[in-house]
Amino acid sequence: MRALVLEKKGELSLREIALPQDVGPDDVRIAIHTVGVCGSDVHYYTHGAIGSYIVRQPMVLGHEASGTIVEVGANVANLKVGDRVCMEPGVPNLSSRATKLGIYNVDPDVRFWATPPVHGVLAPYAVHPAAFTYKLPDNVSFAEGAMVEPFAIGMQAAARARIVPGDVAVVVGCGPIGIMIALAALAGGCSKVLISDFSAPKLAIAAQYPGIVPVNIGEQSLVDAVRSATDSWGADIVFEASGSPKAFANLFDIVRPGGAVVLVGLPVEAVELNVPAAISKEVRIETVFRYANIFDRALQLIGSGKVDLKPLITGTYDFSESIKAFERAAQGKPQDVKLQILLTGEKG
Ligand SMILES: [Zn+2]
Repeated sequence: MRALVLEKKGELSLREIALPQDVGPDDVRIAIHTVGVCGSDVHYYTHGAIGSYIVRQPMVLGHEASGTIVEVGANVANLKVGDRVCMEPGVPNLSSRATKLGIYNVDPDVRFWATPPVHGVLAPYAVHPAAFTYKLPDNVSFAEGAMVEPFAIGMQAAARARIVPGDVAVVVGCGPIGIMIALAALAGGCSKVLISDFSAPKLAIAAQYPGIVPVNIGEQSLVDAVRSATDSWGADIVFEASGSPKAFANLFDIVRPGGAVVLVGLPVEAVELNVPAAISKEVRIETVFRYANIFDRALQLIGSGKVDLKPLITGTYDFSESIKAFERAAQGKPQDVKLQILLTGEKG
């Protein structure tokens, strides 16, 4: 079938490619409806690699997807043909030690869509285990369903933070994931979330949500902003979502004594961490790698109306225009949070 293929660094094509379509007894087959363009997809396109994951052979991109079930395996009881669903893109080894511990996101054997050498789902159909396929509530659109994957990272960060109602949080970095974290932190009980960035357009998008306070660090130091927002006490929780080495320099200046620092942004190289500053405040440090056991909760939260991700969808392209969508995403326009691709025209 026709798919969006990353041939090699910098070269995309829409072309026929053979993708496995055999539905095993525990699998479902999905007619893909919407796929979000993720920073990681764009990075493979522009750089050909992320860390040790290197694109060595043509790979179909896309891992933020929703669609409709068109076939179910013999053992599948919880889903049926016609169900609207979204899919968790990482499939762990179900008998691994990590999976048994409930931390299947860090299973060394996890196979994740559009992470070399595993194909993604920018194609009309995909086969996936039913166990990692989630029914959308009736009031959740396909577009929102395809936003669950990035939102799940925000939810995992909020869960790792162990938010207490009324907490004040800071999110460092106002990219798509930073905004997802801020929304998840508010939904998780934070009274207020300060979010920092250099980019005024990015901050303006985040600031449209009540409870999110933008801090433009081109104009004001984050340390000062947090001091004045917390009577100099510091934030209960600091989420690092920029991955920028500079951001790590003052994380422990903005967290309160006994607070938590949650590391989400992935620095390209090793960064320095001020351990004496962390110890003197007895800061709890958490890290976040993707998510586990979050998709169903994310869908409930979106379905409840407590989280509205629709304003973050800033462009929609037809599948036939998907290379254009990637070219636009690669420009990294500050006004763009999430671009999505629709595959509805591809079904014969
Ligand atoms: Zn993603």
